[in-house]
Amino acid sequence: MAKLLIIEDEPSMQLGLKDNMELEGYLVETASDGEEGLFKIKTNSFDLILLDVMLPKLSGFDVCKAARSAGISTPIVLLTARGEEIDKILGLEFGADDYITKPFSVRELLARVKAILRRSQLQPVKDIARTTIGRLNIDFESFHATENQIEIKLSHKEFEILSYLHQHKNQVVSRYDLLEKVWGYDEQPTTRTVDNFVVRLRQKVELNPNQPRVILTVHGTGYKLVV
Ligand code: CA
Repeated sequence: MAKLLIIEDEPSMQLGLKDNMELEGYLVETASDGEEGLFKIKTNSFDLILLDVMLPKLSGFDVCKAARSAGISTPIVLLTARGEEIDKILGLEFGADDYITKPFSVRELLARVKAILRRSQLQPVKDIARTTIGRLNIDFESFHATENQIEIKLSHKEFEILSYLHQHKNQVVSRYDLLEKVWGYDEQPTTRTVDNFVVRLRQKVELNPNQPRVILTVHGTGYKLVV
């Protein structure tokens, strides 16, 4: 069951969100200001955080920034007030995954929450931990790759990219999805970085890296792992 943290200073809003999320079956914790929120983030593990921007003591942006620099990668959805000139890019630069503008419908928020939780499940499921991708036999649990019993060295990032693609196999994964899910915001990579990693991965995975059959380029969008 997913565990959510709601950081919201307005009591009725906090209660409303809590009730609705609990009705959906989520476990919910709440915090009423930025400091309390950040403390809870640092001392618990959550699957998703709903974070108001205008908060006493510490703003939502500051909470977000602090959480990210503490190495906490839990998905964060910013709750912003209507009329507030919220710069989406700014929020995303601080490490938020998404934002939603008040007043929002509960249905809309729930849809976002579900989508993000689905996307953030980077941890490989046990039964797909061991698999074959192109030339490689891969164990995602132990980060081990072999070809004909000979170990092939993959960097941690390469494993992460491969793992993400594999969990979304046969689906189009955009470069931005990969950037969001595999890279931390601190690293500020570009889509070019993604492309370079894919080129390197293809050299290890594909029979003929110049004619990829496993990691396909989806023109203008990203990549697709075909298994
Ligand atoms: Ca507020």
